[in-house]
Amino acid sequence: MFKLEHIDTESERKEIIRQYRGLLRSTRGQLNRADKKLIRNAFEMAAEAHADMRRKSGEPYILHPLAVARIVSEEIGLGPNAIACALLHDVVEDTELTLDDIKRNFGNNNARIVDGLTKISGVFDLTSSKQAENFRKLLLTLAEDVRVILIKIADRLHNMRTLGSLPRRKQLTIASETDFLYAPLAHRLGLYAVKSEMEDLAMKYTQAEMYKMIAKKLNATKRERTRFINEFIKPVEEMLEEQNLEFKIYGRPKSINSIWTKMKKKDVEFEEVYDLFAIRIITNSTLEREKQDCWHAYSIITDVYKPNTNRLRDWISSPKANGYESLHTTVMGPKGRFVEVQIRSQRMDEIAEKGFAAHWKYKEGGGSDNALDEWMEKIRELLNNPESNALDFISDFKLNLFSEEIYVFTPKGQLRKLPSGATSLDFAFDIHTDIGLKCIGAKVNHRLVPLSHKLQNGDQVEIITSKKQKPSEGWLSFVATGKARSKIKSSLKEEKKIVGADGKAALERKLRNLKFQANTQTFNEITSYFGFQSSLDLFYNIAKKKVNLAELKDAKMSSGKLIFPGREIEKKVEPISIEQTIKETLQKNAELIIFGESSDKIAYKFANCCNPIPGDDVFGFVTINDGIKIHRTNCPNAVQLMSNYGYRVVKTKWTREHEISFLTEIKVSGIDDMGVMQKITNIISGELKLNMRSISIDSKDGIFEGNLMVYVNDTEQLELLMAKLKALDGVLSVSRLESA
Ligand code: MN
Repeated sequence: MFKLEHIDTESERKEIIRQYRGLLRSTRGQLNRADKKLIRNAFEMAAEAHADMRRKSGEPYILHPLAVARIVSEEIGLGPNAIACALLHDVVEDTELTLDDIKRNFGNNNARIVDGLTKISGVFDLTSSKQAENFRKLLLTLAEDVRVILIKIADRLHNMRTLGSLPRRKQLTIASETDFLYAPLAHRLGLYAVKSEMEDLAMKYTQAEMYKMIAKKLNATKRERTRFINEFIKPVEEMLEEQNLEFKIYGRPKSINSIWTKMKKKDVEFEEVYDLFAIRIITNSTLEREKQDCWHAYSIITDVYKPNTNRLRDWISSPKANGYESLHTTVMGPKGRFVEVQIRSQRMDEIAEKGFAAHWKYKEGGGSDNALDEWMEKIRELLNNPESNALDFISDFKLNLFSEEIYVFTPKGQLRKLPSGATSLDFAFDIHTDIGLKCIGAKVNHRLVPLSHKLQNGDQVEIITSKKQKPSEGWLSFVATGKARSKIKSSLKEEKKIVGADGKAALERKLRNLKFQANTQTFNEITSYFGFQSSLDLFYNIAKKKVNLAELKDAKMSSGKLIFPGREIEKKVEPISIEQTIKETLQKNAELIIFGESSDKIAYKFANCCNPIPGDDVFGFVTINDGIKIHRTNCPNAVQLMSNYGYRVVKTKWTREHEISFLTEIKVSGIDDMGVMQKITNIISGELKLNMRSISIDSKDGIFEGNLMVYVNDTEQLELLMAKLKALDGVLSVSRLESA
C-alpha cells in the first residue's frame, strides 16, 4: 500500500498501516474522494519526513502525528483539513520540509494552520523564557483559526497519554503545564472529556500517591456501585419506554481528579464523597423536539424519585458561555442516597463532549448555528481591545477555574504558583528569604508597584531590593503566604532582640541609679506596669524611646518587689480588660464616638496607615498604649484588625467640623512636562488655597509619577481637588493612596 521502506520491521509497518486505517475509520465515512486524497498525501509526506525519527518510547515517530490526527477527528470532531494539518503538525518544526512545501502541496489555509502550530511549538518549554509573551502569541493565533489551538490540544493530550517514557523531571513539567494551561483551555472550548482526561493524567504524575489511592478505592467499590446504578435505572427505564421516548441511560463515573477536588473542597475522606457517579439520559430527538423531550424525561425521573429542587440547573433554556447545554437535577435515590441526573439530547451531548468543534461540524453540515463564529468574534474583540490584553484574558478565564491559586512569572519566564491574594512581597519570599527581607518594591508587567500590591494571574514580577531594607511589623498585614509571614516574624524578633539589648542595658542602668534590683522579677513587674506582652517588647520600646523610664522613680522596692504608687499588688496581677474599657466607653457615648465636639473627652489619633479625613467611612480601634486609633474602613489593615480583634473595634462617626485639616496623600501620574507640575501646584495652593506638606516626583521614560501630601478639610474638598487635577492636560491618573 505505502512505501514505508525506511521502517525496519514488518511488524512496525503493519502497526503504522493499522493506525492509518483506524484514522480513516474515525471519520465515519464522511470523506469524499478529494478529502481522502488530501489525508493520504499528508500522511505520506509526514511519514517520509519523519522517516528516521523515533519517539522516546522507541516507536516510529509517525505514530505520534497519526494519533494526534485521530484525536482531532474522533474526539474533537474536526474535518479533513484539520486531520491533514494534525498529520503535518511536527514536520516544519522537526524535519527538512518547509512551510513552502506545505503551501505548494496543501494550499494557503492549511499552511497557515501548520505555521501557527510550528510557531507555538516551543511555547511551554520551561527552558525558554517569556512564556507569558508566548502564550499571548498562542492566543493571537487562536483568534485567527481556532483549529490551531484544537490541534495543539490534541497534540498535548497524546503527549500526556504517552508521558510514561519520559524522565521524571520532564513528566512533572509537562503535567503541571497541562494542568495550568491546556486543561483550562480545553474547558473554555467546551471539550469536557479532554479536559477531565488531561486533569486526571496530570494528577497521575503530580499527585501519584493520591491518584493511586483513589483509583484503588474506586475499583474496590465498583461492583457495589454498578449494582446500585442498575437498581436506580430500572424503574426509570421502564417508564421512559412506556412513554415511547427514544433514549440511552447509563451511569457515568466521575473523574479521579474531580473526586479529589471534592475531597479537598469539602475536607472529606473518599468514603464521604457521595456522588462518585452521575446518571445520564440522552434522548434521541429532532432539533424541534429536544427541549420538550428533555423536560419529559425530567418529569418521569421526578415521578420515580424525589428531586432536590435546589439542585435543578437548566442550561437548555440558557446555555453556558462555552456552549454547554444540559438539564441537571439531583434526586433522592434508593437507600437514601442523592444521585445527580443529567438529561440532554444527542446533539447537546456531542457538544458537551466535543465542545465548539461540534458546532463547527453542525455548521459545515449546513446548520444555522453560528455560535462558534460568535464565540470567535468575542475572543477577537478581547484580543483587539487594548484595555484588556491577552494576559487579562487568561486571568479572566483562569480566575473562575482556580480561584484559590494564581500563576505568575519571574522575569526569566519561570512559573510560580501562589495562593490568590498573594502580594509582590509574597512573591519575593517565594523566590528566596533574603530577597523577601530586602524587598523594597516590585515591577509587575514592567510597572512599579508597592510591596502590598496584589498579584493577578499571568503577571510577570520583578523584585527590587535594597541592602538597607528591613522588615517592618506592617508587612504582616498584607502578606498571604505562610512562608512570608513566618520569615518576617522571625526577622522582626531578631531585630527586636538586637535593638532590645540596648533597651535592656538602659533599663539596668536606670534601676542601678535608683538602687533597685535588676532581675527577671523586676523586669516582669515593669513589663506589666507599662502594659507590654513580654519583657522583649519592653526592652525594644525602651530602646525606641517609647517608654518613659522617669516613671520608675515613683516606685518603691518592698520585700524584693517593685510597687508602683496607687496600685495594689493584687490589682497589678489582674490584666486590664479591654472589653471592659470598650463597654464603658460605648455606654458613655451611646455607641458612637462623635468627633469634633466630644474629642476632648476621648483620646483618639488618626492611623498613619490610611490617614482618614472627615467624610470617610471610619472605625475606631482601641489600642493598648495609644488610645483609640481611627482607621478608614477600606484601610488595608482593616480586615485583619476587624477579624482578629473585633471586640476592640468601636463605631465612629464624623460630625460637621471644618476647622481641622487632615493630611492626605494623592498620587498623580501623567506625561512628563514641567508645565504640568506648575499647573498642579497652582490648583492646590492658588485656586483651592490648600496647604501642601510635600511633593515628590519621579519621572522615567517621559512619564512622571508624583506623590502629593496635602491638608484638606473633608472628602468633598478632596474630591474637588482630584477632579481639578484630573482635568489638567497631560495628567493621566489621579488617585488617593490607600496607605502611606
Ligand atoms: Mn507533536
